[in-house]
This record gives sequence, C-alpha cells and structure tokens, in this order.
Amino acid sequence: MDDGVVIVGGGLAAQRCAETLRRGEYPGRLRIVCAEPHRPYDRPPLSKELLRVEGEAESPAFRPEQWYQERDIELLLATSATALDPDAHRLELADGSAVSYEHLVIATGARPRTLPLFDGYTNVSTLRTLEDSRLLRRLLTQGSRLAIIGAGFIGQEVAAAARAAGADVAVIELESLPLVGLLGPELGRWFAELHSAEGVDLILGEVVSSVSGGERIESLTLSDDRSVACDHVLIGVGVTSDVGWLESAGLPATGVPTDASGRSELPDVFAAGDAAAAYDPFLAQHVVSGHWEAASRQGIQVAGALLGREPAPSPLPSFWSDQYGTRIQYLGHAQLADDVTIEGDMTARDFVAHYTRDGELVAAVVVGRPRAVGELRQRLSYLTEAAPS
Ligand code: FAD
Repeated sequence: MDDGVVIVGGGLAAQRCAETLRRGEYPGRLRIVCAEPHRPYDRPPLSKELLRVEGEAESPAFRPEQWYQERDIELLLATSATALDPDAHRLELADGSAVSYEHLVIATGARPRTLPLFDGYTNVSTLRTLEDSRLLRRLLTQGSRLAIIGAGFIGQEVAAAARAAGADVAVIELESLPLVGLLGPELGRWFAELHSAEGVDLILGEVVSSVSGGERIESLTLSDDRSVACDHVLIGVGVTSDVGWLESAGLPATGVPTDASGRSELPDVFAAGDAAAAYDPFLAQHVVSGHWEAASRQGIQVAGALLGREPAPSPLPSFWSDQYGTRIQYLGHAQLADDVTIEGDMTARDFVAHYTRDGELVAAVVVGRPRAVGELRQRLSYLTEAAPS
C-alpha cells in the first residue's frame, strides 16, 4: 500500500504544499487531514472582505471540490489528528483510527489565545475560522456595541469593519500604543490616530479587571475603574502554534523547529506555516512567522524538498493589513532598527516608514503606496540570506 504524503491541517500551507507536489508530478498518494469541515480556504478575507459584504459572501475556498478530485488529492475533512508516533510513521485520529504515512507535513496553523476572565460567557469570541467570521458579520450592525480586547492587526481590522457597519467600537489595549512593540512609537501613534479619527474609542494602557453580567457580559470594568458597556466581546490577543497534539512526540509547544527546507528533527516529518518555527538564516534562530506569505512559501518549500529540489531562499518577513480602505504593508525586521524616518504624509495615509540600523534599511512600513513595495523588497532581500559573521 502506498502511504505517500499525509498533510495534517488544511489551510494555506497545506494547500500550497499539495498543489506544488502535484504540479511537480509527485506520483504517490496524497492526503490532507483537516479538523475543519471545509475545503482549504484563505483566512485574510475573514477580517476584511467577509466582514463587509452584505448578504451571502463568496466562499474563500482556494479551489472547488473537483480540483482535488482531478488531482487525486484525498480530503479527510472534519478529522483531527490527536497524536503522532514518528517511529511507526503513524498519525492517530480523534475517532480512534490511525493513518500511516511515508512523509508527514505538519500544517496545523495556529489558534487564538484566550483570556480566562472571559471563559464561559456566550457573547465572547475570537477570529480564526469561517464560522467565527460569519458570527461577527451578523453582529456588526448599526449601533451594536463591540468591545475588542487587543489592538493587534486582527483587532484593528475588525474595528475598521465594525465602524463601517455603524457599530460602536471600544478597543482596549494593554500597551501605551497599538503595535508599539513591533513597529515603535511613531507608527504606534499613527495607528492610534487612525482609529480615533474613525470614531473608535481606543483605550490604551489599560486591562479589563472584571466583567459584569449573567450568561452574557454586559459591561467591562477596566483597571482605571472605567466601565465599557458591550453587546459582544472579541478577543484579539495573538495566536499560538496549534501543535499541542504533538507533545507526546517530543515536539515543543511553541512551533515545530525546521530547517530552511521545512524538515523537522523527526524522520520524514516536515512542517510549514504557522505551526512551524522555521530557521531564519539572517537572525540565526527559529521563528514562527504567523503571516500569510511565509505560510505560502513554506508550503511550497516543503513540497520542493519532497520532490528532491534545492531549497529556495527563505521568505522575507512580510505581511499586509487593510483598514478603512487603506493598505498597510510591512517588510523586514523592524525590531533590529535604531532609527525610523518617514517619507510622505502620515495624515493623508500616504507614506513609507524606513527602519534603519547604522543607516542600512532593515524594514519598511508602506501605507497607501503599494507600488513602492517592489523596490523595497529588492533592497531588503539581503535579509533572506545568512548574516555575515
Ligand atoms: P491555517 O490557515 O490556520 O490552517 C491550519 C488548519 O489546520 C486549520 O484548518 C485547522 O483547523 C487545522 N488543524 C489544526 N489542528 C489540527 C489537527 N490536530 N488535526 C487536523 N487539522 C488541524 N496574514 C497576513 O500576512 N496578512 C493578513 O492580512 C492576514 N490576515 C489574517 C486575518 C485573519 C482573520 C486570520 C485568522 C489570519 C490572518 N493572517 C494574515 C495570517 C494568515 O492567514 C496565516 O498566517 C495563515 O493562514 C497560516 O496558514 P497555515 O496553513 O499555517 O494555517
């Protein structure tokens, strides 16, 4: 029996891996085992287009069912993997059955962090799946009151969509400015002003100390004793790699460490996407990206390794966000910078922030200028190679 490649997880990394394998004429059996009941679909629209669309939104599925049939890719949907036996090359499933593999690709993505204070209430959610997005879209109506915990990208995008729907939005953020740890105070201030100008009640430097209500939360009390009334609470405080099920195989809970081609320390086991801590040659450490482009490139990279190809250069760290009709793009390693200069007009939402270290560009944030990205990407491509020692 041909055990072939089994991909656990059916998101972006899994999709890219499967399509690259078949395009590269991988002749063996190919199975995708996914906990969700849907064909692989794209997540960025869940906090953007899908929250804005009136009526029935288009499915974010990457491909129609027929596409998988034509390529002989077996989809085992609504099927969770619960454990891995690397010596026996066996994956255990939630229904008690098991599948054998020749090569395994771990692509189980990430799951949103939650906060114990909010456990058990019926009007609290996170945003990771199609169902989460559909729930939010129903709730975002004129005059509804949404409290968002965390001013990261998910919280900010939902705030923007909620304001467009006419909802009252309060965002509660522990830090003094949004994204200040990642992008620094200049950009943090810009994000704060962006949301305040759009009517978001942005509450900075505070945490929720208690909640009131019965089954549903009716109001939040903050650390400065302020009260925030709400109909729904969205928790957007980041994600963790969804790899807890691999603990018995001895893999760390922080993401599966891989080399540049996606190979893990376990025999014939690879990892890609938000579940993987891929080796970054420039930083000389394993890093979980948490972003779309890396998940896509790593899925392709693993397929390349399985097809016997040389590894391509590591992807440049990058992501984008869409808020209030403006595209925000990020490239590089802002955490390495010792200076930031702004070119353009921040109030007009039309600028590039150049992050430099000793005068050399290490990262950029591009707002409302998508055409600037190509050249910046070129200038930053040195970050995908090993840093000179
Ligand atoms: P996922 O897409 O999370 O897929 C993992 C799949 O594995 C899921 O279907 C999950 O159910 C399944 N799974 C988990 N555990 C198991 C198990 N034990 N057994 C079987 N299956 C399992 N990135 C950007 O760069 N820009 C953006 O604008 C952006 N917007 C985003 C908006 C939202 C709302 C979200 C949630 C993410 C966004 N991202 C964005 C991040 C990007 O979508 C992710 O980095 C990308 O989806 C990661 O792909 P993945 O294949 O690793 O994991």
